[in-house]
Amino acid sequence: MTRKKFVTKPQSVVSTSWDDGAPLDCELSRLLNKHKVQATFYVPWKPDNYDRIDDNELKKLARHFEIGAHTLTHPDLTAVPLREAKREILGGKNELSALLNQEVEVFCYPRGKYTREIVSLVKESGFIGARTIECFRVLRPVDFYRLWATVPANPYSFWKAIGSIARSSFFANLAGISMVVKNVRKSWIDLATAYFDYVRKNGGIFHLFGHSWEIERFGLWDELDEVLAYIAAHDNVMYLTNGELIRTLKAN
Ligand SMILES: [Zn+2]
Repeated sequence: MTRKKFVTKPQSVVSTSWDDGAPLDCELSRLLNKHKVQATFYVPWKPDNYDRIDDNELKKLARHFEIGAHTLTHPDLTAVPLREAKREILGGKNELSALLNQEVEVFCYPRGKYTREIVSLVKESGFIGARTIECFRVLRPVDFYRLWATVPANPYSFWKAIGSIARSSFFANLAGISMVVKNVRKSWIDLATAYFDYVRKNGGIFHLFGHSWEIERFGLWDELDEVLAYIAAHDNVMYLTNGELIRTLKAN
C-alpha cells in the first residue's frame, strides 16, 4: 500500500495598505475592488495641510475595506511632546471609530516615524498592531507594532531600497537584498512581481503599500492596475487587510 504523502505548502498572503486618506482613495478603491484585492486605508482625522476624503466617501470605503488610524493631524510623532503624541494617536482612533461606528484596530505611523515610547502609546491606545514604512520583507513580522511591508507603489530607486534594507537587520533580510540586487535597474513593477512570485513559491507575506496622491503625481494608475492584475485571484493565496493579517498571524 502506498502511503499518501502530505505536502504542506507554506501559506502565501497578500495584503495592501494605503496612507493619508486623500480624496483619490475613491479612485484607488475602485481599482482594488476591480481586482478583489483587500486593503487597509490609513486615514488621519484632520490633516494639517490637505483636505482628506470626505466623511461620506470614507464611510463608503469602510464598507469594502478596513480603515486604520493615522493620528489626528498627521504630525511627526517623534517631534512633538509625548502627551501631544498620545492625544494624536488616541484622538485619531476615537474620532474614526465614532464616525464609522466600528472599532478602528490598526495604526500607521505618520511618515514612518516612531520611537519605543510611541510604540508603547500605540499599544496602550488599544490598537492590535501598527504599520511602519520599512519594506522589502516577506517574512512574518517579529513585532505586530512594527509591521513591515514588501514593495512601495512608487518609482523604484535602487539606493533607496538598499538604504531601507540596511536599516533593518541585514541577515534577517537576505531574501530582500538578493531580490533588490537581481532587479537593479528595473521598474517597481518588476520588483513587485518578482517579490510576489517569490511569496507564491515559498510562502510569506507580500505587502504592497503606497499613497493614492503619489500614484497620481507619478502617473502610475496603469502600472498599479497591472500589478494588481498580476497578484490578484490566485488559488491558495489569502487576500487580507492589515488587521486580518495580524489576527491570522496571532492565531498561528
Ligand atoms: Zn501618512
